[in-house]
Amino acid sequence: MQFGVERNVVNLPVHKSYSFAGRGAFAAVLMSFLASVSAVESSRGDDEFVRVRQVRSGSGVRLFVENRALWDVTVTLKVLARNGRISRLKPETATYPARSETEAARVAADDPSKRCKWRCRFEWMVGRMRGPSRNGAPPDDKVLYRLPFAAGRSYRVAQGYNGKRTHEGRDRYAVDFAMRKGTSVCVARAGVVVDLEESSKTGGSDKKFRRRSNYVCIAHDDGTVAEYHHLHYDGVLVEVGQRVEAGQRIAISGNTGYSTGPHLHFGVYSAVSGRRSQSHPVTFTTAEGIVREPVKGQTYTAK
Ligand SMILES: [Zn+2]
Repeated sequence: MQFGVERNVVNLPVHKSYSFAGRGAFAAVLMSFLASVSAVESSRGDDEFVRVRQVRSGSGVRLFVENRALWDVTVTLKVLARNGRISRLKPETATYPARSETEAARVAADDPSKRCKWRCRFEWMVGRMRGPSRNGAPPDDKVLYRLPFAAGRSYRVAQGYNGKRTHEGRDRYAVDFAMRKGTSVCVARAGVVVDLEESSKTGGSDKKFRRRSNYVCIAHDDGTVAEYHHLHYDGVLVEVGQRVEAGQRIAISGNTGYSTGPHLHFGVYSAVSGRRSQSHPVTFTTAEGIVREPVKGQTYTAK
């Protein structure tokens, strides 16, 4: 019998400057039907939000994706089989609702007298899938975001959408606000804290720092996830699982990670797969009025 579990927390390389929203995970399971395994095997330990459960069924196996988080996740589940027929009940990449268990695929032996080998791998990411923003359309353009700092405070946009320095690819629709270290970072849109990091003490203009950013990720009701980056060491004031309201102070700004100077990177993302995400433009309500695209060099005041 071969039964192996590999686990590897994915720090996605897709983000040029930062580590990634909502910690992803990867697991590989290798099994054979004729092996003497218990009827139910789980792909990973009980401490994970997402796992794949395999249930023996006749000469085959049924694969269930279990999402134990309080928020939706997007999972890419790949299944390979030799002498096996794979039936998919969910597409290879699909969004699984909070607190759910869903049968995603089945593998049945083509020839039950022969050994059937199969393998599955999965990766996951917090949030739902959304259409691309090629034309600049936000995922939900009725929603107004407040600026991610305290009401009455004004900060200059150091880099806007499509910024030449780092706002491309996954970060195309992110905004950088220049602010001194120690500035209060406040919620732009209500949601639930799904991930955070505050252990980094370093940062700089070298790409080697791109995974050293302290951050908070907040999942919204529409399945998008906001990321607040470059926070101060020990500068996160909320916990994973906590509900936060717009305007609430959640962190202290800093200059950790890949950064040329103290600033706050703010972006709203959705899942493209269990590995990749994309950003979306959002509309801000500010003291200066409605802002559809924050302009580099311009200063905006939070309401
Ligand atoms: Zn940025």
